[in-house]
Amino acid sequence: MVIVMVPKAKKSQIDKVINSVKKDGLKPHVSKGEERKLILVIGDERKLNLDHIKAIEGVEKVHPILKPYKLASREVQKEDTIIKVDHLKIGGDSLVYMAGPCTIESEKQLIKIAKSIKKSGAQILRGGAFKPRTSPYAFQGLGEKGLKFMQKAKKETGLVTISEVMDTHDVDLVAKYVDILQIGTRNMQNFQLLKAVGKVKNPVMLKRGMTATFDEFLMAAEYIMSEGNKKVILCERGIRTFVKYTRNTLDLNIVPVLKEMTHLPIIIDVSHSTGIRKIVRPMARAAVAAGAHGLMIETHYSPEDSYSDAAQTVDLDEFKKIVKETQAIENILKNMN
Ligand code: PEP
Ligand code: MN
Repeated sequence: MVIVMVPKAKKSQIDKVINSVKKDGLKPHVSKGEERKLILVIGDERKLNLDHIKAIEGVEKVHPILKPYKLASREVQKEDTIIKVDHLKIGGDSLVYMAGPCTIESEKQLIKIAKSIKKSGAQILRGGAFKPRTSPYAFQGLGEKGLKFMQKAKKETGLVTISEVMDTHDVDLVAKYVDILQIGTRNMQNFQLLKAVGKVKNPVMLKRGMTATFDEFLMAAEYIMSEGNKKVILCERGIRTFVKYTRNTLDLNIVPVLKEMTHLPIIIDVSHSTGIRKIVRPMARAAVAAGAHGLMIETHYSPEDSYSDAAQTVDLDEFKKIVKETQAIENILKNMN
């Protein structure tokens, strides 16, 4: 349910509505930045004493939210969510680049890559310390040691950092060392994990499940947001289809569609969605042309030697070309508007 206040509603009137909702045993969320304040009520709406709420001065109207996702919905928040980390803005008009190795291999490796991608224009360093590997015998990541290298790389370069968390028990640990938490495709519907990252202050980048519909994707974001963490970034990383040539199929339709459905930023992971190094750059260009808020690109100075995802990892020069070409596309789009 959305309770819409009149344009100049007083704080005391908004407080009255909030108290009334709480008294009915439901959770109110006040949406900010609107010309009119909106109070969203999430939960079993049958408990609401609607007559009482409608009678509070300052309440203009009350209407149901039609979509199953609420906090993530454009219906509820018209303007784009812009997530600030240090001086960086993710969402809105900015285009951000996340680059770095699939797996953190050593301090030297990470810092060498971090310095180079920063010079080429990246703002965010990615690197996995806890790796979700298909085989239990494959390298599983350096764990906390790797996270410490991320912290060091941030200190040396000033880059914002992102790393995956796979287990509820590791949420605080990963949150301590890196700026943004990543939820991988395999965990998009790990509801306990989603609730756990919903309780921390760090932004969360949620990757689309490899067979998830748009609604399922946004419902997963809703899990995080309903726990209080509204700083959710969505990431398309390719879906499973009958196409065997590429590792996954990049579903670029998602960019314009999600921009209508939600106010959350959307990043395109052109590495996992393609699985093939040579098609990363053309798909990066396409993603920016479609209106993505950013790109994620697995990058290494010696891609063939990467501990994981070598086939899709680009080298440092290729990353530089990707930034140059996609920024040119971004400028054309900006000048058209
Ligand atoms: C990754 O980013 O390295 C990763 C494992 O991604 P995904 O969850 O999309 O497979
Ligand atoms: Mn990877």
